[in-house]
Amino acid sequence: MPAPRISFEFFPPQSLDASFRLWETVQALAPMQPSFVSVTYGAGGTTRTLTHEAVSTIHRNYGLPVAAHLTCVDATRTETLAIAEAYAAAGVTEIVALRGDAPKGAARFVPHPLGFANSVELVETLARTGKFRIRVGAYPEPHPDAADSRADVTWLKRKIDAGASSAITQFFFEADTFFRFRDACVKAGIDAPIIPGILPITSWQGVKNFARRCGAQVPAKLDEAFATAARDGREDLLALTHCTQLCDKLLQGGVEDLHFYTLNRPQLTREVVRALGITPEVVLEKVA
Ligand code: FAD
Repeated sequence: MPAPRISFEFFPPQSLDASFRLWETVQALAPMQPSFVSVTYGAGGTTRTLTHEAVSTIHRNYGLPVAAHLTCVDATRTETLAIAEAYAAAGVTEIVALRGDAPKGAARFVPHPLGFANSVELVETLARTGKFRIRVGAYPEPHPDAADSRADVTWLKRKIDAGASSAITQFFFEADTFFRFRDACVKAGIDAPIIPGILPITSWQGVKNFARRCGAQVPAKLDEAFATAARDGREDLLALTHCTQLCDKLLQGGVEDLHFYTLNRPQLTREVVRALGITPEVVLEKVA
């Protein structure tokens, strides 16, 4: 089985301490030769400038292809497009185009009166510029806004038809969840690559809370396993085993790309990637 192509998601730092953590994360993971890395865009557009600075700096200093996340939340079309244009000017030509969540305190997403109404509109408009390779989000388990069980597949098809060239999924716990979704996408005529989003579990309680918010089913067996591992002080080992096995099953099932949600904590991601047979490329000048 050939080694997979891998990619990493980072988030932009909001303090000096967080800046150091991001750079340590990038430094630890860049030698694993990712095919691209991505940087998130804070909920409600709160990290507009920080995302831009993190994207541009990683692009400049590491020469890695960087995909900048961009959402429609709380911005006019003109403002959103200006952000995209600034990326193009900085040589960043990959965008993860998202609708985004409701800003804090709001119950659901409401478009800005002069903004993009949804992700399809954003993708269409970015595609028309001809300047970007566009990736989008995908949901193997029902997104909280999905009207029915097929909605996430039909909506993804619309995003691909609008000009996106690949999709990255929300995280999930079992490989079959991904395979069922992939099969449904193929049946619906989606031929763009769908890259599984992998969340290495560095805090089980944190992941459970996050899963509840985004509609990912937590398997009871995994919950029990983490409870037992916590009593024995072996959570790290369980997290490594679970994530490596999940990736391995995906690869056995024909997956060629894995996208890791690093949460700016490089260690577990690095261990999983190494367990999958990817070794860091050492730059001689840096060790001499
Ligand atoms: P969409 O795919 O547009 O919508 C999600 C689902 O809602 C659809 O599958 C469909 O079922 C339904 N839906 C939505 N609109 C319609 C419509 N008009 N008609 C019919 N059905 C509709 N959030 C951030 O704030 N910043 C980030 O950087 C960020 N990065 C992400 C990266 C990835 C890979 C993923 C998967 C998610 C990310 N998110 C991020 C979270 C994302 O913003 C939320 O999940 C948001 O609620 C949906 O955004 P989307 O573009 O994926 O939604």
